[in-house]
Amino acid sequence: MVSKITVKAPSSTANLGPGFDTFGLAIDAFYDKVTLTKTKKGISIITDDNIPTNPENNTAGLVVKNMKKKFKIKNGIEIQIKKGIPAGFGMGSSAGSAAATAVAFDKLFNLKLSSNQLVEFAGFGEKASAGTIHYDNVAASVLGGFVIVKTNPLNVISINSPTDLRMCVAVPKIDVPKKKTKVSRGVIPEKVKLVDSVQNLANASSIVAGFMKKDSELIGNSIQDVIVEPARQHMIPGYEKVKQNALKAGAFGVTISGAGPSVIAFSKSSFDLKKICSAMSKGFKSKNIDCQTIICKPSKGAIHQKK
Ligand code: ADP
Repeated sequence: MVSKITVKAPSSTANLGPGFDTFGLAIDAFYDKVTLTKTKKGISIITDDNIPTNPENNTAGLVVKNMKKKFKIKNGIEIQIKKGIPAGFGMGSSAGSAAATAVAFDKLFNLKLSSNQLVEFAGFGEKASAGTIHYDNVAASVLGGFVIVKTNPLNVISINSPTDLRMCVAVPKIDVPKKKTKVSRGVIPEKVKLVDSVQNLANASSIVAGFMKKDSELIGNSIQDVIVEPARQHMIPGYEKVKQNALKAGAFGVTISGAGPSVIAFSKSSFDLKKICSAMSKGFKSKNIDCQTIICKPSKGAIHQKK
């Protein structure tokens, strides 16, 4: 009988511009590791990282709570979390822990859940961080690569990425509000103009076509959002400069990663990616902000760590 399972899950970027709450892409920038161990009773969280340890406020804790209830599991569970994904920067940190936990729980109790079920359980975790359930980050983190999330009923469609697709991510060293995703969801307009929705629809469709055709340039050129980005960019000091610098350095498209404040530029492997990263750093520097830049590519989804 297995009593302990470790799963590693990747960081992810949500939205990809026009695909708000719909598109997600797992990226190999950072990974979370979650180890679930069967205990006699209760749910406990062990971590050295600066995240809530009350299971009700931790994405991994909420996933375990829901899965325990759903499958009438009597055991207790100890959740050990080793964060690699920085929390609160739009890199799918809360989702990474939730995705790793759902996949680990499935393995620990041999539930053999489908991908859609795993995403659904991982999605419960997002309530702890974002206040609402949304599946874009968890779907990417569970399945890997590019995903499209359809809801009612939940159905996640995954498409292989072009092998030359690369991203440059700039993670600014700024203080983020505790409930950042909740705050940044609050600034999005409830009503949108038809012309704007048409533009976003055309760009979102082109992103999907870009993944289908394995065309990184089409994907990157279509990373344009006229609805959410204009409403959120004021929350990221220097955003416009970071974006313009990256475009001038050769990026195809630039947008906010998830709810921010990280900024992500889309490009391809034959381009000068270091130049794009340094252009983005200079953009943040213009506001006296340091940032970490990472060149990354699409990642595989959550995987069981054998040792
Ligand atoms: P991100 O895009 O990094 O997920 P969010 O703001 O959506 O950013 O989530 C980060 C918030 O979620 C932080 O306030 C953090 O304390 C909380 N949180 C709860 N559980 C976790 C977890 N297991 N990993 C990371 N953040 C968590």
